[in-house]
Formats: sequence, C-alpha cells, structure tokens
Amino acid sequence: FKDAKDALKHAIKGQKHGQAVTGGGSFQSMGLHPSLLRSLILRGYRVPTPIQRASIPSLLSSPPRDLVGMARTGSGKTLAYMIPLIQRLGGRHSTTFGTRALVLVPARELALQVLKVGKELARGWTSSGGEHAGDNEMDEQAESKKPQALKWGLIVGGESLDEQFEVITSNPDVLIATPGRLLHLAVEMNLDLKSIQYVVFDEADRLFEMGFETALQEILHRLPSSRQTLLFSATLPKSLVEFAKAGLQNPKLIRLDAES
Ligand code: ADP
Ligand code: MG
Repeated sequence: FKDAKDALKHAIKGQKHGQAVTGGGSFQSMGLHPSLLRSLILRGYRVPTPIQRASIPSLLSSPPRDLVGMARTGSGKTLAYMIPLIQRLGGRHSTTFGTRALVLVPARELALQVLKVGKELARGWTSSGGEHAGDNEMDEQAESKKPQALKWGLIVGGESLDEQFEVITSNPDVLIATPGRLLHLAVEMNLDLKSIQYVVFDEADRLFEMGFETALQEILHRLPSSRQTLLFSATLPKSLVEFAKAGLQNPKLIRLDAES
C-alpha cells in the first residue's frame, strides 16, 4: 500500500506540473481528473493497455467522437470506456432528472462485473482529487450540501420489474443494462432514454450472437441523436459493421491485432 501511495503522490505531482510521469500514453498524460488518477493507481492500474491508450484521449476530445474499438478479450476494454464515462459525467450525481450514460452488455453476470468496475473507480471522488477530510465530523447542514456520489442502476433480466422501476425512479446517472429488459422498460414503463449522452455497446459481437440486434435497433431509435456512441467488440462481423455504420457518426476505428 505504501508503494501505491508513493506512486500516487508522484503521479499527482507530475500532473500538477503538466508533465506526464511515464511519458506519452500514460494515464497521467490523458488529462484525467485527479480523483480518477488516484483511483486507478490505488487499484493497481499503473499503465494503460493498448486499447485504453488508443481510446481514452479520443473519447475525451472535444467535440466528442464516436468510436469502434476492436481488441481481444482480456485487453482492458472495460476501463477504455469506463474512465471517459466517469470523467464526462464529472464523477458526481446530477440532480437534474434523467440518466446520462448507458452501458449495454449481453448478459447479467457481465453487467454485474461492469457495475463493480465502475463503482470502484468512481469511489472517493472529491473536487480536488485529494483524500476525504473530516467526513465524519461534518454537521448535518454540510452533509446535505455535499455533492452526491455518482448513482448506478442495474437493469437486467431476472430481477423483479417493481425493483427495476424503483431503480429508474431513483434517477441513476449511469445504467448498466441488458437490451431485452431495458427495451421492455422503455416500452412498457415509458423509460425515457432521451437524456442519455454517452452510450456503450460492450461485447457487441456477443450482443449480436445472442439475438439482440432488433432490440438494439429499437434502443438506438430511442436515444437522442446528439449522443456519443461507443462500440467495443472482440470481433467485427459484417452485421456489426453495418450496425455501426447506421448507429455511429464518423467513428474512430481502433483495431488491435491478436497480440495487443
Ligand atoms: P476485456 O473487456 O477487453 O475482455 P477487461 O476490461 O475485462 O478486458 O480487463 C481484463 C483484465 O485486465 C481485468 O482483470 C482488468 O482488471 C485488467 N486490467 C484492465 N486494464 C488494466 C491496466 N491498465 N493495468 C492492469 N490491469 C488492467
Ligand atoms: Mg469486456
């Protein structure tokens, strides 16, 4: 742990002076919020993987750019979209009603994994990126003014619809969802997707293999056209390329070969 703390100090110091600690392509050179950098380092993510190096800066560029990222399983695609997602949402809950980010995954277990990664990464966010100070001594008034942590919601098959309705009414900033159940809620419970600014199709090849293509088209139609759209996949079959052409705007294509 001492090692991690030292690395953190070093990293933040490097950023303050506007320098990358380990040169170009490091997490420190990506303009990430100090809280995110801190979180990455404390969790042992020192160096970005190739897909992360190629994706994160372009996802954080202004204006936002769509992206198709192809890289093998285990190459670190989750953080490639989760780091920019958290940074784009400002790391905090927005009290304005409406979910701002959506991650679509093919299965419930994967949704749980992605949720865990996201929550851990966003944990401990402070405006300065420093450690929380005196949290326990805060009086009630200060507590109520304190910005709230990012809210996450899980929308997957196999959970009761009542519970999921509650998830939606709690105004989550991010939804992690499987397409069938999300579409069901959109159609049957008027879940409005028009506030979504950032949408990720994760394991897109598996989403297609599992027969979600029509549900995904339906979901796409319910999203605002001003969104930033990301598609990550281990393979890019022709059907996926067609889907990306229809649903993404001039996406940056990152294609890493097998050993990347
Ligand atoms: P993919 O979605 O491409 O299959 P994952 O996002 O699930 O890959 O990541 C695979 C593994 O690599 C996970 O255990 C994750 O914690 C780890 N990992 C991801 N990025 C990094 C990194 N920059 N440094 C070290 N480990 C990482
Ligand atoms: Mg993955």
